[in-house]
Amino acid sequence: MENNQTEISSLGEFGLIDRITKDFPLRNESSKKGVGDDAAVLNFGDKEVLVTTDLLLEGIHFDLRYVPLKHLGYKSAIVNFSDIYAMNGTPKQITVSLGVSSRFTVEHIEELYAGIRLACEIYGVDLVGGDTSASVTGLVISVTCIGESEKGETVFRSGAKPTDLICVSGDLGAAYMGLQLLERENQVAAQSKEGKDFQPDFSGKEYILERQLKPEARKDIVAMLKENGIKPTSMMDVSDGLSSELLHICKASDTGCRIYEDKIPIDYQTAVMAEELNMNLVMTAMNGGEDYELLFTVPLTEHDKVEKLKGVSIIGYVTEPNLGAAMVTRDGNEIPITAQGWNSLAASQQ
Ligand code: ADP
Ligand code: MG
Repeated sequence: MENNQTEISSLGEFGLIDRITKDFPLRNESSKKGVGDDAAVLNFGDKEVLVTTDLLLEGIHFDLRYVPLKHLGYKSAIVNFSDIYAMNGTPKQITVSLGVSSRFTVEHIEELYAGIRLACEIYGVDLVGGDTSASVTGLVISVTCIGESEKGETVFRSGAKPTDLICVSGDLGAAYMGLQLLERENQVAAQSKEGKDFQPDFSGKEYILERQLKPEARKDIVAMLKENGIKPTSMMDVSDGLSSELLHICKASDTGCRIYEDKIPIDYQTAVMAEELNMNLVMTAMNGGEDYELLFTVPLTEHDKVEKLKGVSIIGYVTEPNLGAAMVTRDGNEIPITAQGWNSLAASQQ
C-alpha cells in the first residue's frame, strides 16, 4: 500500500459508503429521502418522470492509465444528465453503483466521488443511493439518473417531420480527437526512457483534451430553446457519433435526412489533430462520438429563430423516408450515411 492510502477493508462496506456519501446534501423538493434507508423516496407530483442508466467498465469504456478518477466520476454523472436533457427534461437524482477490485483504496473512491459531487453541485442533482460490491475485473461504475419534465414537454426521437430543420449544438469530433491524443501520448510514454518522468505535450490541444476528459451536458441549450419558445420535434444527445444518431432519429421518426458537409460544426483544434493523425476530418466529426451535444429537429417555420441562437448550427433538413439518409458533400455529391459510431459490442472492437 502506498503512503497515506487506506485499504477499503479497514473501513468495511458500510464505513466506505458513509465516507463517500456524507457530503451530498439533498437540494431538490422531489428528493424526499436519499442515502440511508432500504430505498430512496421520490415525489414528482404531476411531472413526467424520466429514467436513464449507464454501465461503465474499466478496459471497455475507460482506461485509468490516462483518465484521472475525478474526471471519470464527473463524466459518469454528466453522460446521464445529458440523456435527460436530450428528452427536454431536468436531471434531479442519481444512484451510483460500484464494483471495486482490491487495487483501489478509500482515497481512490473518494477521488471518484469528488468528481461525482462536482457534477451534482453544478447541475443541481441529488445523489440518493447506490450499491457497493467487490469486483475481480477492475472498476465497474453504473449510474442511474432520474429526471423530470412538465407534462407534454418531453421530446422523443420519433417526432421529426419532413421539411423540419436539423440542428446540432456546439461542435463535433473534438472528444474523439482528444482520445486519440491521449492514446498516442500514453504509447509514447510507455516507450520513453524517461519512464514515470515523461511529460506529454498537450499545449495547443487543451480544448480537445477537455472535451474528452471533462465533457458537459447541454443544460444551457435546453434552457435557451425554452426561453425562445422553441420546442424541438425530436431530440437526442450525440454520444455514439452524428451518423449513428441521425439514423436513430430517421428510423424512430420514419423519415430520411440530408445534411451538408460544409455545415458540420468543427473546432480548429479538432481539425489540426485530424491533420496530424492523417484522419479524414469530416468522418471524425460524423463518427467520433462522446461529444454530448444535442441533435434536434425544429419545424421549418422556426428557421429565423434558430438561426439567431448562439452555439446552434443548422446542418440540414428532414426528408420523406424513401429518400434515405445522406450527406451532401462540398461538391454537391450525396453520400449515404452509415453508422460507424462507437459500439462496444461491435465485433471490430473485440
Ligand atoms: P442494502 O443492503 O439495502 O442494499 P446498502 O447497505 O447496500 O443497503 O446501502 C446502504 C445505503 O447506502 C442505501 O441507501 C444505498 O442506496 C446507499 N449506497 C450504497 N452504496 C452506495 C454508493 N456506492 N453510492 C451511493 N450510495 C450508496
Ligand atoms: Mg446494497
